[in-house]
Amino acid sequence: MATPDEIIRDEIRALAGYHVPDASGMLKLDAMENPYRLPEDLRGRIADIVAGAEINRYPDAGAARLKARMKAVLGIPAGAEVILGNGSDEIIQMLALATARPGATVLGVEPSFVMFKLIATFCGMRFVGVPLAEGYALDAERMVEAIETHRPPLVLIAYPNNPTGNLFDSAAIERVLNAAPGLVVIDEAYHAFAGRTYMDRIGQWPNLLVMRTLSKSGLAGLRLGFLAGRAEWLRHVDKVRLPYNVSVLTQLVAEEILKHQPLLDEQAAAIKAERTRLHDALARMPGTTPFPSDANFILFRTGAPQRAFDGLKQRGVLIKSLHGSHPALEGCLRVTVGTRDENDRFLEALRESLA
Ligand code: PMP
Repeated sequence: MATPDEIIRDEIRALAGYHVPDASGMLKLDAMENPYRLPEDLRGRIADIVAGAEINRYPDAGAARLKARMKAVLGIPAGAEVILGNGSDEIIQMLALATARPGATVLGVEPSFVMFKLIATFCGMRFVGVPLAEGYALDAERMVEAIETHRPPLVLIAYPNNPTGNLFDSAAIERVLNAAPGLVVIDEAYHAFAGRTYMDRIGQWPNLLVMRTLSKSGLAGLRLGFLAGRAEWLRHVDKVRLPYNVSVLTQLVAEEILKHQPLLDEQAAAIKAERTRLHDALARMPGTTPFPSDANFILFRTGAPQRAFDGLKQRGVLIKSLHGSHPALEGCLRVTVGTRDENDRFLEALRESLA
């Protein structure tokens, strides 16, 4: 019998894997979840829908009704096609699987969403991350150089970027779109909290795809992401999608919730208002410097990141430490915007931890 060393690919054995810390009993401000539940009456309707769902049957593999509703309410332009994923994580994986010729590169920026690199590795691709410039700006010059060197079939840009929270300059993104030989995916996971989008520009570049998720809009537990773009690309990406990747329950529940888009918009507006308040409080706190954010989280720097993280944890508040993960993130922590009360509890615990 062979050992795992002989059987499991070297690059997989070398991985640490995506770590999800235990958050039982904690105030969970580490994963960009929406802090608000749905109203009681809508939850009751969802309970009825779930009770009536035919879970003895496989889901509609093409999710036709849900896709039609999404096209109607999510600003997907007429003429664009849509693919659904079990979260947008799965869509990133489909994109990598479909483009993973031997030796091919996924191009991104660094620091950015760590799953880009992990998924590239799972699929046998190389990942090249171009360092962000001052102020976490997209370095168009270096991006174009890297595109010319590596000829990546797939470029992934989170917009706003995670974990830095900022939107990149449009002119810089356009240079990337114009230079890329293959697909450029604008990952708009945090779209609900940002003022700008590429969704309405899908017709403008043949190689532009726009990805979003409902996770940050209150449906993280459902697992539903989508990719919009031209049919000529998506019909191929769709072939690597596992046939029943979006469950019966996810399809039915999302369809119902999307009838209440104004509710999701109201929650996003409340989160944005709290983001401003939280940012101002962090700016006033001695020893912490927040970065501007167009997302539902705030990256901030402190001279004592470990003390801040541990002190928060001891006080029952879980956030994300990025200290040590990348030179540009020295001393940085990331906090998800919660409810007013949650943000106050976080601020108080942080103040005590740094005192
Ligand atoms: N893209 C970005 C930039 C993210 O930050 C995240 C979640 N952290 C995702 C995609 C994945 O989200 P999900 O799989 O929940 O749709």
